Amino acid sequence: MAEKVVIIGSGPAGWAAAIYAARANLQPLVFEGAVTPENSTKGTLPLGQLALTTEVENYPGFPAGKSREYLGTALPSERQPYWVQDNGDQPSHGINGPELMELMRQQAVNFETRIETDDIVRVDFQRHPFLLHSLGGRTIEALSVIVATGARANYLGLPSEDKYKNLGVSACAVCDGALPRFRNKPLIVIGGGDSAVEEATYLSKFATTVYLVHRRDKLRASKIMEKRALENPKIALKWNRALDEVLGNDTDGVTGARLKSTVDKQVEEVPVTGVFLAIGHTPNTDFLAGQLALTPDKYVRWTTPQRSNTSVEGVFAAGDVADSYYRQAVTAAGTGCMAALDAERWLAAKGYH
Ligand code: NAP
Repeated sequence: MAEKVVIIGSGPAGWAAAIYAARANLQPLVFEGAVTPENSTKGTLPLGQLALTTEVENYPGFPAGKSREYLGTALPSERQPYWVQDNGDQPSHGINGPELMELMRQQAVNFETRIETDDIVRVDFQRHPFLLHSLGGRTIEALSVIVATGARANYLGLPSEDKYKNLGVSACAVCDGALPRFRNKPLIVIGGGDSAVEEATYLSKFATTVYLVHRRDKLRASKIMEKRALENPKIALKWNRALDEVLGNDTDGVTGARLKSTVDKQVEEVPVTGVFLAIGHTPNTDFLAGQLALTPDKYVRWTTPQRSNTSVEGVFAAGDVADSYYRQAVTAAGTGCMAALDAERWLAAKGYH
């Protein structure tokens, strides 16, 4: 029998959709992603981008405090954070990204959401019920689908960049910028687009200096953003430079960056405690090729204002996979809720429940 609603993806959008769909008696099935080395390298393991971050200070509802007892009772023992299981010190004063995602997942499970730890790798939206094929070899029929596979931040691919992820290397200033290691210290942002300027501007509230490192001598950012960067006394442009190596050690994490010129052979080392990549995101839409209208940047196209509808009736999209603009956990969760409500209403209108 066809599933009423299949949710693909397990970040805040996916779990919010699951909670709403489950409470609407739609018995959602979530494909949370497979645990594979390839997904690990790409940053697309289950629980989404938040599972790759540390402290989350901007998701409403988690002010500072002792979360040990709550996490210990809300989550089954095998999914509790390591520091609760080991009876160690709480590493953050609020909530960590992976903990927040485990709580969302558990909330969906509490309402009898079914979960497959598997990827959907191919879809057929030309027929109805829709057909979904998984990496693990499963074929699922679905009356409605919510695509919530998110996007992944682009990195340069340097081994040193990988080594210091969460130890000073980040791709999200809003997520990590206010952490103590970045306060009153010099930082670097790599990139020349609106995101890079936005990240640098945000970080300039905390840092002593933000070096904005761009590979050309002209920003890609819009004029207004460019003006903002040039007029900010705490932002120092480093034109025609590329990141050659992140410098650091196991105790302190990032301690500096080696930059190389893109026009001559000059190399320089800059002492910084943080390196922020802002060189674009890639939405996780490869598996949708030819099945759903995408934007030129390969994001799923929302086709109806203020709705989560896509180009195929019965297929809805939520979170970063369709949103290149806000890209926040709370906005992803919000659109996940919208997608579940849209799916529920669509199924009802079609007489499916
Ligand atoms: P983007 O506009 O594609 O800019 C990416 C930047 O990263 C470019 O400057 C690019 O350099 C650089 N880059 C790419 N690959 C690189 C590499 N391997 N090494 C070094 N540098 C590299 O991406 P974005 O800034 O994330 O913006 C995405 C979209 O969201 C845009 O449409 C933007 O306008 C929008 N946005 C708007 C706002 C706002 O209005 N407040 C804020 C954020 C984003 P080149 O310039 O040399 O190609």
